[in-house]
Amino acid sequence: MKNLIFILLGVILSISSCKKVPLTGRKQLILLSETEVRGMALTSYNEFLSTNKVISVNKDSERVKNIGNKIAVAVTEYMKMKGLSESIAGYKWEFNLVEDKTVNAWCMPGGKVVIYTGILPICADDNGLAVVMGHEIAHAIAQHSNERMSQQYVQQFGAIGLNVALSQQPQQTREMANQAFGIGSTVLGTLPFSRTQESEADRIGLTFMAMAGFDPKAAPEFWKRMSAQSGNKSGSDFLSTHPSDAKRIANIQKYLPEALAYYKK
Ligand SMILES: [Zn+2]
Repeated sequence: MKNLIFILLGVILSISSCKKVPLTGRKQLILLSETEVRGMALTSYNEFLSTNKVISVNKDSERVKNIGNKIAVAVTEYMKMKGLSESIAGYKWEFNLVEDKTVNAWCMPGGKVVIYTGILPICADDNGLAVVMGHEIAHAIAQHSNERMSQQYVQQFGAIGLNVALSQQPQQTREMANQAFGIGSTVLGTLPFSRTQESEADRIGLTFMAMAGFDPKAAPEFWKRMSAQSGNKSGSDFLSTHPSDAKRIANIQKYLPEALAYYKK
C-alpha cells in the first residue's frame, strides 16, 4: 500500500514536473525546485573553494574569466530569444581556475564554473577552452544535475520534500547532491552524466560557444585530443565522466552546422 502511494505520488509529480530542455526540446523529469538545488550547489561550491587553490590573477585565470563571461552573455541572449530568461534569472556567474593537475571542469546549477589547470593543455587555445566551458555551462542550463537528483531522489526518499530530506538525512542528501554536481568523483565515486545528457551538453555547448564568438569546429579536435589522452590515466575525472569516442565525435560533427549558423566572425 505504501509503495502504491509512492507510485501514485510519483506519477502526480511527474505529470506536474515534466520540463523541456532548451534547444534540444527533450522532455525531462524535474522534481526538485531549482532554487533548492542552487542553494545546495552554493554550499558545495563554497566548500570546494575553501579547500582548493583558486588562482586569483594570472594569464590563464583571466582567459577563463574572459571566455566564461562571453559565454554567459551568449547564454543570456539565447534564453531571452527563446522566452526562457526566467529560468536563469537567479544565475550569479563565477569563473575560477583552480591549481590542480586533474583533467576536470564543471559548472554548478546557478552558474559557478571551475576549470582545473590540468585540462588547459588539452584545450590548447581559447577555442578549445570555450568547448569545455560551453559544454559544462550547457549541463547547468539543461538542469542535468536536477534531473539526475530527481531520479535518485525518488528512489531514496520517495515523495518527501528536499528540505525534509536535508534535515532528516543530511549526509545522504548532501552526497547525492555532490554526485549530481559532478564534484564528488574522487571522494564519493562518481555517478556520470548519462550518455543522453552528455550528447545534449555537447550540442547545446556548441551553439553557446559559437554565439560567444568561438569557433565550434574546435570541438571535434578537442575531443580527439581527449581521446588520445585516455591511454594516459593521470587522474582524469573528466575522462571517466566524459568518455570520448568516435561516436561522440561523429555526433558533434552532426550538430556543427546548427552551431555554425550562430557563429559570428
Ligand atoms: Zn559533460
